[in-house]
Amino acid sequence: MDKIATHIAQTLQRIQDAKFTGRFPDSVVTLLAVSKRQSATAIQAAYDSGIRDFGESRVQEALEKLEDLESLKITWHFIGQIQSNKTREIARNFQWVHAVDRLRIATRLNDQRPHNYPPLNVCIQVNQAGEGQKAGVNEADVSTLARNVMSLPRLRLRGLMTLPPANTDPKTNAVLFARLRNLKDTLVADRIPLDTLSMGMSADFEIAVREGSTIVRVGTAIFGKRDTPIKTQ
Ligand SMILES: *Cc1c(COP(=O)(O)O)cnc(C)c1O
Repeated sequence: MDKIATHIAQTLQRIQDAKFTGRFPDSVVTLLAVSKRQSATAIQAAYDSGIRDFGESRVQEALEKLEDLESLKITWHFIGQIQSNKTREIARNFQWVHAVDRLRIATRLNDQRPHNYPPLNVCIQVNQAGEGQKAGVNEADVSTLARNVMSLPRLRLRGLMTLPPANTDPKTNAVLFARLRNLKDTLVADRIPLDTLSMGMSADFEIAVREGSTIVRVGTAIFGKRDTPIKTQ
């Protein structure tokens, strides 16, 4: 578990360096530790090193850890694809959802968010490369979905999220990250108030930070390889 502390310190330093060599040296970047397939003990170790934001992509697996770690002040982010039969648990147990890509899911999350909780923070996942099988809304449809999500009172629309194609040269992702930032700026100019760009993972978070990311979702670089190989979503 000492390794986790070291990895976190290194990751934070790399984020800091990337800020200064990028276009947004003063930006605030949150390091979201992606703890899917990692134990509650590993999460506790990351917490002890100062991490407060954790990302999970499977509801059942996450709920067990949430219970184990109930006493900690963690902000839980759901970063996986959202099945409609899981929205209730997500709306009740998470503070952020990163991969909203259709109104039906947003509406369910809104309806199921408990009324004594603050609004659920939401990002819209954008399918930038037009990958058929991948989740996410096409760039052209983001603005309509964003306006609809904005009208849901139990949700708070925060920004955009991207998950670029796997196994490509991380440098090519710089173009996608810049495009996501431009899309966000266009929406903001159109009076859709967004403050979040959820972009960058272990292989490319420095590139994402240089392009204006505000939340990097980092798993392997903090915790090491996951027990069982799984698809990113
Ligand atoms: C697994 C996952 C990550 C983290 O991936 P690493 O390469 O381990 O950093 C980030 N975002 C999403 C949506 C994921 O599913």
